[in-house]
Amino acid sequence: MDAWSARELRQQYKRLLAAHREAGNQMKHLACHDPLTGLLNRAMFSRQLGRALARARHDGSGLAVLLIDLDRFKLINDALGHHAGDRLLQEMARRLQAVLPERTAVARMGGDEFVVLLDEPAIASRLPQLARQILQALAIEYPLEGQLLHITASIGVSTCPQDGHDEYALLKRADIAMYRAKAAGKNTCAHYSSGMDGASAVQLALESDLRRAIERNALTLYYQPKVRTQTSRITGSEVLVRWEHEELGLLRPEDFIPLAEETGLIVPLTKWILRQACRQNREWRSQGLPALQVAVNLSARQFADGNLLADIRSVLAETGMEPSLLELEITESMMMRDTRHSRRMLEGLKALGVHIALDDFGVAYSSLSHLKRFPIDIIKIDRSFIRGIPGSRADEAITEAIITLSRNLNIKVVAEGVEKKEQLQFLRSRRCDEIQGYLFSQPLDAQSFSALLQGKQQAQVMD
Ligand SMILES: [Mg+2]
Repeated sequence: MDAWSARELRQQYKRLLAAHREAGNQMKHLACHDPLTGLLNRAMFSRQLGRALARARHDGSGLAVLLIDLDRFKLINDALGHHAGDRLLQEMARRLQAVLPERTAVARMGGDEFVVLLDEPAIASRLPQLARQILQALAIEYPLEGQLLHITASIGVSTCPQDGHDEYALLKRADIAMYRAKAAGKNTCAHYSSGMDGASAVQLALESDLRRAIERNALTLYYQPKVRTQTSRITGSEVLVRWEHEELGLLRPEDFIPLAEETGLIVPLTKWILRQACRQNREWRSQGLPALQVAVNLSARQFADGNLLADIRSVLAETGMEPSLLELEITESMMMRDTRHSRRMLEGLKALGVHIALDDFGVAYSSLSHLKRFPIDIIKIDRSFIRGIPGSRADEAITEAIITLSRNLNIKVVAEGVEKKEQLQFLRSRRCDEIQGYLFSQPLDAQSFSALLQGKQQAQVMD
């Protein structure tokens, strides 16, 4: 081997070594970093936080965890697609790093959630100013279809040793504080406080879980069949939402709808339900199944919400759902809260072509004159009257009166909570239009409901 080729070989070898080292670094980088933003990933953040906590325990110093969540990120993702959403996340990561002290551990936890570890001395006194700087840096205007969308973030802060000594406690409490910040109107920072403990902490944690469940499609719709009383034919269903919670198991609407009402989450939740229900309905139709009504319950807060009509209009347009197949269930008390608003709202809904059902009829105000004044298509007799059949003369009389009244007003009448054959016989003999209840079927998931439709259109139990 001559000298020249030996030198060449050495250079080749060096190049190879450099390339190898570079590849190794890249692998290492990938294992520790979020591929989209280049920030630390969750595992690496966890390792760094663990080290900082050990140090804090050893020398008694403090540290802070900041959880940052963009306020209207889902809107961008929905409106512009994931590609634009990804670009926005990259920009946010860049701004975040630019405003933080050098060598600060900052990670993307997934979605639009970032987390920052601050373990410099005297961090407590610097926190308010730093939080303000972060909020300012992340507040941007994003051009969207000719207008500017204002993006902001919310920050939740927890500190060690005050709020906890381990990763789980600190992250959970920063999360609770972050949702407190969102509830306070977004674009703000909230520090975890013991006042958020106990029942309110549980509520806030549940609230944050529910918000995520809505955003990540982690809820499931169940369909309770409604059937013609005379023919046993399925005409449609009332949808009910269930939530498979990671820690608490299966939650029924009554477990979390009140919370959703209280926190305002009912508005995005109902929109989600409407969209899913309409999509599913269209899908069944495209599979050649007969046209089915689908009924969605509206809540008081939803009914009072100024965006309801626009939301329903957009869901109908987006899903291609036939408006006359959509029923919206409201209660008498909702209707009576502000009759002028109700009238406007109901007329708006009618103009969209959807049908309106008066749910749980007979237990609240039952001002009969409203049946004449409001554009009601369907009355649902409250289950408490059906429960008394057979046996209670009063319940039978009231049920019969509601059926007669509805028929004369040309309003369809549905009995809820039908569980016994005797109840069905009574309702058939009084010519109630439709029934729903366990006698025919419990609420079913989409697959089982579709199987029921395809397999046996008529319920065995009713024949
Ligand atoms: Mg209902």
